[in-house]
Amino acid sequence: MSAPFNFCAGPAMLPVDVMKKAQAEFLNWQDNGCSVMEMSHRSQPFIALAKKAEAELRQLMTIPENYKVLFMHGGGRGQFSAVPLNLLSLEGKADYLVSGSWSKAAAKEAKNFGNVNVIDIVENEGGEKRVMANNTWALSEDAEYVHYCPNETVDGIEMFDVPNVGDVPLVADMSSTILSHKIDVTKFGVIYAGAQKNIGPSGLTIVIIRDDLLGKARKETPCILNYTFAAENGSMYNTPPTFAWYLAGLVFEWLLAQGGVSAIEAVNQVKADKLYACIDGSDFYLNDINEINRSRMNVPFWLKDESLNDAFLAEANQAGLLALEGHRSVGGMRASIYNAMPLEGVDALIAFMNAFAERHKTNN
Ligand SMILES: *Cc1c(COP(=O)(O)O)cnc(C)c1O
Repeated sequence: MSAPFNFCAGPAMLPVDVMKKAQAEFLNWQDNGCSVMEMSHRSQPFIALAKKAEAELRQLMTIPENYKVLFMHGGGRGQFSAVPLNLLSLEGKADYLVSGSWSKAAAKEAKNFGNVNVIDIVENEGGEKRVMANNTWALSEDAEYVHYCPNETVDGIEMFDVPNVGDVPLVADMSSTILSHKIDVTKFGVIYAGAQKNIGPSGLTIVIIRDDLLGKARKETPCILNYTFAAENGSMYNTPPTFAWYLAGLVFEWLLAQGGVSAIEAVNQVKADKLYACIDGSDFYLNDINEINRSRMNVPFWLKDESLNDAFLAEANQAGLLALEGHRSVGGMRASIYNAMPLEGVDALIAFMNAFAERHKTNN
């Protein structure tokens, strides 16, 4: 066995090179005589770090000039409140596409703030789940924005086409898919992502917002959730999560060194294809998502004989394959294979799954 591989859905593994760099400069960052986490966020070295991280994220995602990049608090769920507070007027209405548990939770939270039209977009076709065609969704004519979740982390449902919602601003919860493949930022009004899946440690939330959507926040919006305040203050209206920001910056550097988003996308495609091929090629395992919506980041699967679940997890752990238990709401298994998961990790998992199936078949 090589190093253990951690398949946790979040907080997820970080690239080993990033962890080593952070460890090496933990006590004395860039000869400042202290750790980066012991420095003022308003000090010149930290401001330089913050600017560099933003510039590299802009480069990685090709974020146009007319979008602001905000480094905020409160995780994905913080944005479930921030989005309606900043974008939904008291008389207005928002459409929420529901494709799994996170988009459902976002819609529920938004209802606390106003008029929300919930649109279920997943259908079950011959035992397989898939997202219904865009033109069948009952979108409102007068929505102030449409919210959706391109990758449902728990359910393993990913939408690869950006929804066509006309001129209505599209708001996307990209917590578990940001930076995993190329996207056209200009198709979105707001993109947000909690950092702890594909960017860095928890405590940091990235928000990418088109300029014309600023300045609409309700008066009662808490300042730390207010996009306009964040933009006007360079995300330093209050003390930002500085250590998480620093680590995110190291991850951006690492991604650029890998060749950027299209290079990592190619690896992600290979990892996912191999894992789904293993599941489909075995009569031991099952995944019930239609091919067109199978997540490249979170691969849920079930053992056909669920009485073997505990044995599977225990033996996987022993083999150094960690955190494969499915989300408590759906059960089964889940392998999260974000950018930081090397191909060798997926190969090790596949080898284990095949061997486990072999062992337990002969036992019957
Ligand atoms: C993990 C996750 C969240 C919740 O993030 P928190 O930072 O725990 O609030 C929201 N949306 C998606 C898609 C997620 O994967």
